[in-house]
Amino acid sequence: MFPDVRRDFPLLTRTVRNGKPLVYLDSGATSQKPHAVLNAEADFYQFHNGAVARGAHLLAEEATDAFETARSEVAAFIGAPADELVWTPGATQALNLVANGFAAASDGLGGLEARRFALGEGDEIVVTEAEHHANLIPWQQLAARTGATLRWIGLGDDGTLRYEELESVITERTRIVAFTHVSNVTGVVTDVAAIVARARSVGAITVLDACQSVPHLPVSVANLGVDFAAFSAHKMLGPTGVGALWGRKDLLDALPPSIYGGSAIKIVTMEETTWLDAPQRFEPGTQPVAQAVGMAAAARYLGGLGMDAVAAHEAHLAAILREGVSEIPGVRLIGPVSAPLGVLGIAAVAVDGVHPHDVGQVLDDRGIAVRVGHHCAQPLHRRLGLTGSTRASGHVYTSEDDVRAFLEVLATVPSFFGVTV
Ligand code: PLP
Repeated sequence: MFPDVRRDFPLLTRTVRNGKPLVYLDSGATSQKPHAVLNAEADFYQFHNGAVARGAHLLAEEATDAFETARSEVAAFIGAPADELVWTPGATQALNLVANGFAAASDGLGGLEARRFALGEGDEIVVTEAEHHANLIPWQQLAARTGATLRWIGLGDDGTLRYEELESVITERTRIVAFTHVSNVTGVVTDVAAIVARARSVGAITVLDACQSVPHLPVSVANLGVDFAAFSAHKMLGPTGVGALWGRKDLLDALPPSIYGGSAIKIVTMEETTWLDAPQRFEPGTQPVAQAVGMAAAARYLGGLGMDAVAAHEAHLAAILREGVSEIPGVRLIGPVSAPLGVLGIAAVAVDGVHPHDVGQVLDDRGIAVRVGHHCAQPLHRRLGLTGSTRASGHVYTSEDDVRAFLEVLATVPSFFGVTV
């Protein structure tokens, strides 16, 4: 039995909409934070706050220690060494950092060692039709800037990837394959090994959007065999404003930076600049130190629960949620009920004849918080003939009761709007 951790999350004790208990099912957008994370951040500000990597006073030293210890802990959480983890403001910026590094190299920046990242006409970048916009638009822009061509692995009618297209879409011309580990709409876990094997066989660099996997599954970047991975603290019980880019050290040391400023440099003259090695070359400016400390506290908290247990809890919730939804007349589940590598605690649904915002309002009125709209995945919705959906998504604090409350209210939606099913 997964432990009931709800009492660790102060926000979950509040009521909403005229005293109703909160049923929080919007964790795919952002998760709630346990005391352990809130206290870690408060402790940093109360006792150790100082600027990192500069200053000779004790607080600067303590802040730098806390920042670098947090880096080691978050890196260890994904099975990586500390010097392969770059702090970023979030996953979106992490993915942009990689794409913009390729763009800078394509402009001739970064010297000889960056040439491996230079793209031009005839080169191809591959994504999937399931991507969150954060892992689609940076690659579209990179293609537009360099003359490379963007291609994608399509989705079947059930909203899962058409792996049979791997051979024809990923070819000798492919330089980058960027794809999500877990869909933020269907919750389906991607067969990373299959995509990495094909990408490697043609010498392409792989970029994994691990935003919806690191918070919910045991993730080892070394075992997955990808080259870069991006994730955000706020979806894994940590604070907003911080996330990480993980990259293989040889790649990070060669990738040109694309955000410039203080602290990331070796020597600056009026004519030119030389950069520190990774990860510091990607971290100019004042860093989100308290947030990094909070992210490490979140990793410790999740590690304490055990990521295998977290994944099993999420799979259990997903099964109840998805089977329950698939049995409600007039409600369509986006994606399959189950999948070969699993589905996490998410269900996005479309209710025949009712706009997702209206579905969300009925749920909200009963104290149930969900996400409505396209969830930053317009191509996926368009492929399935939809403009949007209503998404329930859980986390470690989500209970079977939460899921049942959602299903119960969802079942009333068609008749509430006079839709006959
Ligand atoms: N990728 C996926 C799959 C996501 O679900 C999200 C957030 O919703 C992102 C990327 C972007 O993450 P962030 O907004 O934290 O940068």
